Amino acid sequence: MEQRIYLDHAAAMPVHPGVARFCRQFPEGFAGNPSTLYQEGLEAQEAIFRAREKVAALIGANAPDSIIFTSGATESNNIAIRGTALRNQRAGKAVVLSAIEHISVLNPAKDLQKSGFVLTLVPVDRYGTIDLDALGAVTPETVVTSVHYANNEIGTIEPIREVAEIVHDRGGLLHVDATDAAGRIPIDVERDGIDLLTLSGNQLGGPDGVGALYIRPGVRVQPVLVGGGQERGLRPGTENVFGIACMGEAARLAGEEMPEESRRLRAIRDRLIAGITEIEEAYLTGHPTERLPHHASFRFSRIEGESIQLAMNMLGIAVATGSACTSRTLEASHVLLAIGLAHDEAHGSMIATLGRGNNVDQVPRIVEATRETVKRLRAITPL
Ligand code: PMP
Repeated sequence: MEQRIYLDHAAAMPVHPGVARFCRQFPEGFAGNPSTLYQEGLEAQEAIFRAREKVAALIGANAPDSIIFTSGATESNNIAIRGTALRNQRAGKAVVLSAIEHISVLNPAKDLQKSGFVLTLVPVDRYGTIDLDALGAVTPETVVTSVHYANNEIGTIEPIREVAEIVHDRGGLLHVDATDAAGRIPIDVERDGIDLLTLSGNQLGGPDGVGALYIRPGVRVQPVLVGGGQERGLRPGTENVFGIACMGEAARLAGEEMPEESRRLRAIRDRLIAGITEIEEAYLTGHPTERLPHHASFRFSRIEGESIQLAMNMLGIAVATGSACTSRTLEASHVLLAIGLAHDEAHGSMIATLGRGNNVDQVPRIVEATRETVKRLRAITPL
């Protein structure tokens, strides 16, 4: 029986062995509430502080205090969008997003419309790159603009520095969802001009259920949940000390290994793209060069993405179709529609996101499995 090949690291990353080792060092029975002043509590505070430093270092943030820990990217995005818009609404009631943001950015922004905010979606080109001219939609009334660092479905990296310049020229704040980009390409909130930045613990090689939000010192944000004063009052509730400490170590290791690991994954990605785009009526989606090093995404005409996922699974390969968070709905991906695909074209997508367990030797088997799958599905399709 051939070994399975896992190609869905954007949906769930296995915990990095170095992170697992670090987590095991946590003393058994460790029980310190960081809000207390006795030794156990101080140790917990210290563990969180170290994690703040490590996460801050990964994204070039000068002050560790500018990092707050959350339960994941979805919560960070909610605080960034809702919390910033509601806190600053006296300055204006408009929010601007790229048309291909993740639903955890899109939905909080849509929800703000019920409170009288005006939402504008800025179009992208056929590669998924934001239309910088259309960013003229940002006006002095725009309290928050959100453009992700890179897209999870098509891998395209956005020109964040240019976006930041435009947003700041108009006096606005820029939030960047870096869930898929952090740890894979260099990010520097100072160089890039980012005011708020979302991170996911799992996407750095840490555990699920923990994330972070960078908030530039001086930027005013109100909490989404209300309760105790933890995380500067922005994320009340007893901290997930263990998860936070493990996320910190994941951030440190991801930063350390990024140059070498990105080069390694980029080489596999390029072979995969070369092999799969040779299949008849198979096309790369997203940008051919400005794309995440671990990300290869395709579309095949006259096929359903869900059947590709099931058929590839039977051949021992785990791939994604659409965004894992929405693929069960069978709706066409808003990302693929935004890059100009028709509804039927937007259904036949396959996404391969690479990680530590992948190597170049797997490429021929993946390409052959894809070819066989596409051929078989086309033979039986009613489309
Ligand atoms: N933002 C982006 C860009 C994502 O790709 C994802 C999911 N992988 C999220 C936010 C949400 O992450 P989570 O489900 O961990 O909250």
